Amino acid sequence: MYIRLDKGIYMVGGGAGGPGISNYKDCNVYLVEGEKDAFLIDGGSGLDTGWILQNILETGCDQKKIRYLFLTHAHGDHGGGVKDLKAAMPWITIVASSGEKRLLEQGSEEELGLVAAKKKGAYPKDYVYPHCRVDLTAEDEQCFFAADGKITVVLVPGHSVESALYLLDKGEKRYLFSGDSIYLNGVLSLINCYGSTMEGYRNNIHKLAGRGIDALIPSHYRLIMTDGQKHVDKAIELLSYSSLPPMM
Ligand SMILES: [Zn+2]
Repeated sequence: MYIRLDKGIYMVGGGAGGPGISNYKDCNVYLVEGEKDAFLIDGGSGLDTGWILQNILETGCDQKKIRYLFLTHAHGDHGGGVKDLKAAMPWITIVASSGEKRLLEQGSEEELGLVAAKKKGAYPKDYVYPHCRVDLTAEDEQCFFAADGKITVVLVPGHSVESALYLLDKGEKRYLFSGDSIYLNGVLSLINCYGSTMEGYRNNIHKLAGRGIDALIPSHYRLIMTDGQKHVDKAIELLSYSSLPPMM
């Protein structure tokens, strides 16, 4: 199962809180395919990576075309599937920010927020985080060229230690893969776990101003294909007030 969002842009994973096209615990996983190559955004939970691989196959995209896997952050529902994806497609380059790289490679359950998440019942009690190596550290404003577009890394710590957002510029349209950092209507996601700070949001949200974003594509909940910048601007505005912004 997969959902086509636009030409060459597919949702190939997404659990119970989203479209239900892969394991219940998976964040939305996106595949962007161009003429010559392709990339993935996030890896899901690792609880059933075979399902995501099957979805990729169904889009008709040749796995061999996938060059990068861009991680928004290390949390289990995003980073847990990376190890299996790398095993299935050893040629892909795993990209993450330096703060998230450390967690992906060796973060403790406490640092990954898993102790609290398990307590809440959000993960199976026996869930073991599959650590994996990150091949390339993404710097703020670093650019990649893949899938017939330019991908710019924007680091916005806040939801997690060093969350990365990926802005895809396809010329006629700009897509922001915003991870768990920004949802529609300027809603943010501060969680009661290691690495999640209001200060991170406050100090970094301005980086998203004036980006001309059309599609705002988060890792959970609703997405929107037009006027995405309005939703991002709303977050910037809300974060300038002394009261806490709305959270999911
Ligand atoms: Zn998260």
